[in-house]
Amino acid sequence: MSDCVFCTIDKKRIIFKDELFFVIRDIYPVTNLHTLIIPNRHIVSFFDLIEDEKRKLNQIIEEQRTLLLSEDISITGFNIGVNDGEDAGQTVMHCHIHLIPRRKGDVKNPRGGVRGVIPEMQGY
Ligand code: AMP
Ligand code: ZN
Repeated sequence: MSDCVFCTIDKKRIIFKDELFFVIRDIYPVTNLHTLIIPNRHIVSFFDLIEDEKRKLNQIIEEQRTLLLSEDISITGFNIGVNDGEDAGQTVMHCHIHLIPRRKGDVKNPRGGVRGVIPEMQGY
């Protein structure tokens, strides 16, 4: 899609690519090395992924995690996330999975993690 930022991403920014997915660093990282895993196919929703893609996605998430951990020993955790649909916060309408490295002490109280999508519901 010619008007899609991910379909038209500069090839120099791609850190991994295979027949189904490519991987880039987020341009506005939530934390250092914030990574996006993106299907080559222009699909909007995570739920549009077919079985082969889902299988490969799990493998890439694991591989990227391993790479990130070897690249940066300060990483002590991850948030893995998908904003699926505008009402869930999706801004780029080409499916992507956020792999966000976390480090001890990067926020005062990390408890609740992705529950923070509704900020007042993060803590419990
Ligand atoms: P979402 O809100 O889940 O749709 O996330 C879109 C993500 O894409 C955001 O974290 C943006 O910072 C990121 N982003 C937007 N444009 C680019 C770009 N050209 N290269 C890399 N990441 C981008
Ligand atoms: Zn696209």
